[in-house]
Amino acid sequence: MSDKGRTENFREHLGNQDNTGKRIWLYPKIIKGRLYKYRTYLSWFYLAFFFAGPFIKINGYPLLLLNVMERRFVIFGQPFWPQDFHLLVILLLTSIVFIVLFTVVYGRVFCGWVCPQTVFLEMVFRKLENLIEGNTNKQKKLDAMPWNREKITKKGLKFIVFYGVSFLIANTFLAYLIGWENLHAKITGPFMEGLPSLAGLVVFTTVFYLVFSKVRELVCIMICPYGRLQGVMLDPNSMVVAYDDVRGEPRGKIRRNEDQAEKGDCVDCGLCVDVCPTGIDIRNGTQLECVNCTACMDACDSVMDKIKKPRGLIRIDSLNNIKNKTGFRFSPRVIAYSVLMVILLGVFGFLLAGRTDVEAHILRIPGQQTYFEEPGGIISNIYNLEMVNKTFDGKRFRLESSTPGYDVIIADTSSTLDANEELKRIFRVTQPEADVKDYKRTIELTVYIDGKKLKSFETTFFAPIEIE
Ligand code: SF4
Ligand code: SF4
Repeated sequence: MSDKGRTENFREHLGNQDNTGKRIWLYPKIIKGRLYKYRTYLSWFYLAFFFAGPFIKINGYPLLLLNVMERRFVIFGQPFWPQDFHLLVILLLTSIVFIVLFTVVYGRVFCGWVCPQTVFLEMVFRKLENLIEGNTNKQKKLDAMPWNREKITKKGLKFIVFYGVSFLIANTFLAYLIGWENLHAKITGPFMEGLPSLAGLVVFTTVFYLVFSKVRELVCIMICPYGRLQGVMLDPNSMVVAYDDVRGEPRGKIRRNEDQAEKGDCVDCGLCVDVCPTGIDIRNGTQLECVNCTACMDACDSVMDKIKKPRGLIRIDSLNNIKNKTGFRFSPRVIAYSVLMVILLGVFGFLLAGRTDVEAHILRIPGQQTYFEEPGGIISNIYNLEMVNKTFDGKRFRLESSTPGYDVIIADTSSTLDANEELKRIFRVTQPEADVKDYKRTIELTVYIDGKKLKSFETTFFAPIEIE
């Protein structure tokens, strides 16, 4: 189908479908413009970060660990356990609001520049494909030719390289799930013990291979829920990759001896469509399929340079701005999302600042009598100590009375708290009856972790004395 045909009936089917709904295989051209260069630099940083991530340690913890099976999570070197679930929920909500706010203001720029799907597809697999099969025209020719030696060699090599890179991605992905040390142990350990992990790796590898070699733009157009939400998140003030129809129309090819004065700046070359990874024509307006990759901006700028017109016929701008030539304005929606995000960030920051590696609570045991008279003239009260170790290491703990004249009697005063252990222990606080002066006294108990003070608690101690 010609680009012109696509332009005229674009509302009837997706950019990568023909009139019958059959998928058209896309061969987007790689255009090496200014923005592509920035995307490439960003992708180097991104890929280095992704592949190095499992090996980077902060305070002995991995940068990121999402061990769902064992419910162990580490985010930026900070361990989280299921007890911190409320923090993860707030973090998730803040991220969602951030993405929504970012989308309302800047459109789907996340998809084109940061989303792993686009980064891997455009910056890794597409480049490898061009290296093996040649440019767009050569790829089309190769696909059209019968299975001869050249086609078998190139397609075979592409399969090996794509599957190999997918295997690398799958290994890294698994390292984020179970930790690099665990993965290494499984790879180097006995074959039968590592078999379930190997099976998982093959499944992941095959999924990644299919996504990047076959499914491709369908992920952004049909599968990704974020893409589906664009319709409710964008408004005419959102900054998106947009075609300036005021300046570009009426479009038309440059013809010799023809007066160009009546024409707009668009020369209808179709290059913006040729480079589009989702196969759309941005001149038809903002479409859900647009992932804001900015390839069409580079393409059009290169055309404008050639015909000596100012760049930016396709640029990042809002529809209102193009229509009315007004600047960016904060809409009520943007203000509301911003306020919500500040609140969520405040709550998250507050909870995070108050979070300790070990949590401890001391409570009087409910339903018990207030004090006990023990043999030898000793008065005792009983309490409950509850502790949670949120680190991946064991800790030594100690409980003492900071108020003179009172002793803590606990089965094991200097005990170990295992990694992720939730400990509950009953203990007694005693005072010699001869020292009792008040019926009710506030005392202070202190919990020490690995010799350092964690927290002091004030609680009440009752003793048998006549109240006048
Ligand atoms: S229209 Fe432009 S920005 Fe949108 S996906 Fe296509 S090339 Fe990328
Ligand atoms: S690349 Fe620019 S000039 Fe060419 S068709 Fe697209 S908008 Fe028009």
